[in-house]
Amino acid sequence: MTEKESKQVKMEDVQAKADEKKCPVQKSLVFIEEFLAGPMCGRCFPCSMGIYEARIRTARIVEGTAADEDIETIKKISSHMQVASMCKKGKDTAKYLLEQIDSNEFADHISGVCSSNECIEQIKYIIIPENCTMCGDCLDACRDNAIIGEKKKAYLSGYMPFEIVQKRCTKCGECMKVCKHGAVRLISAKEMAEAETVGA
Ligand code: SF4
Ligand code: SF4
Ligand code: SF4
Repeated sequence: MTEKESKQVKMEDVQAKADEKKCPVQKSLVFIEEFLAGPMCGRCFPCSMGIYEARIRTARIVEGTAADEDIETIKKISSHMQVASMCKKGKDTAKYLLEQIDSNEFADHISGVCSSNECIEQIKYIIIPENCTMCGDCLDACRDNAIIGEKKKAYLSGYMPFEIVQKRCTKCGECMKVCKHGAVRLISAKEMAEAETVGA
C-alpha cells in the first residue's frame, strides 16, 4: 500500500466511526477527535492552533452550552484549514465540518434542537399526567430509579402520580418504549425553554 492509499484508508476509518453517530454535530466531533488523535506536524497554523479551539466549541454545542459565536468561530477555523492545510486529513476534516455547519444542524442545536435526539443535554423525558393510567410499566423498565409514582390498586383511592426525576434520568428512552398509553413524551430543550417562558 502506498503512503497516499494508507492516508485514504485512515479517513475512511474516521468516516466509519462518525457513521456510528446519528447527530451531525457529534459526527463532527468524532472527525475532530480523530484528527487530534493522529500525528500533528504543526506545519499549518490554522490546523495546529485552530483545531483545539474547534474541539472546545463543538463540544459546547453537543452539551447545549454554546452560542452563535461558537459556530462562527468553528466556521472560520474550518475555512482557513481547508485553504491552508497541507495534508489530506486536514482538508477532509475542514470540508466535513463546513458541510455540517451549512446543513444548519449546528444552528439548530443552538436553538435547543438535536434532530436525532442523540445529544442528551438537548432532550428531556416527561410524563403527561392526563394520559398516564398508573400502570407502572415505566417504573419497572427504568434501570436508573428515575421514576417515582404508585401503581393503581383497586383498594386505594389516593395515588402518588408518576413523574420522572430529571437529575436521575440518563435519557435511555426505555420508559417511552414500554408506555402503551403515549404518556411519556420526549421534548427538546427548545420546547422546555418555551414552556418555562409561558409558565413564567
Ligand atoms: S493540516 Fe496536516 S499538514 Fe497541516 S499542521 Fe495539520 S497535520 Fe500538519
Ligand atoms: S407506563 Fe405510561 S401509563 Fe404506565 S405509569 Fe408509566 S407513564 Fe403512566
Ligand atoms: S429515560 Fe430511561 S432513565 Fe430516564 S426515566 Fe425513562 S427509563 Fe428512566
